[in-house]
Amino acid sequence: MVTQQIKKRGVTDSSVLQAMSKLPRHLFVPERFIDDAYEDGPLSIGAGQTISQPYVVASMTSHLNLNKESRVLEIGTGSGYQTAILAEIAKAVYTIERIAELIPKAERLFELLGYDNIFTKHADGSNGWTEKAPFDAIIVTAAAKTIPDILTLQLRADGIMIIPLDRDTIDKQELVKVIKSVDGLKQETLYPVRFVPLLGNTEN
Ligand code: SAM
Repeated sequence: MVTQQIKKRGVTDSSVLQAMSKLPRHLFVPERFIDDAYEDGPLSIGAGQTISQPYVVASMTSHLNLNKESRVLEIGTGSGYQTAILAEIAKAVYTIERIAELIPKAERLFELLGYDNIFTKHADGSNGWTEKAPFDAIIVTAAAKTIPDILTLQLRADGIMIIPLDRDTIDKQELVKVIKSVDGLKQETLYPVRFVPLLGNTEN
């Protein structure tokens, strides 16, 4: 997976490659997909949601420029796979999931694998995690219509956010990198992607 899918497409960040080599992805997929766990694509994890393609996880993570001191906010815990990759590299990962039924399995895996630097919350991640802000990096793993202002406010100066944006035309989701500086926000469009939509603030 790392050689054929990730390095080949240009990801060179050694901390990301090491984390992707180490983490057993098959633990994060439903049992019926275990044989496909290292394939080059997303997989269903139930509740209409997916575990992202390995390359996309690696690429998004490397764009965040994390180090051992980084505090990261993740919107969309899902299977917990991306969360664990972040936790391998950063100091602390705060992860928010909108669908309650997905959280216990991810939390069990974090415990099983010994992560004590992951903090989970059931909420609408579009509101961020005010009490824990500011963050060095924010990663959104579901497609938003626009960049939520609350999230950019919770990013520290020089912080980086990676977010898939739904441009509202057919097949036009794009991965966008937002860099915050004293001069404001700079946006860079990276490449086309396909993510599940960022859910609104409905009860459940
Ligand atoms: N990073 C995940 C992984 O590796 O499994 C990918 C998960 S999937 C592509 C996106 C996740 O975002 C889903 O679990 C979905 O329920 C969650 N989500 C969607 N809208 C959300 C919101 N407003 N707040 C928090 N989580 C949300």
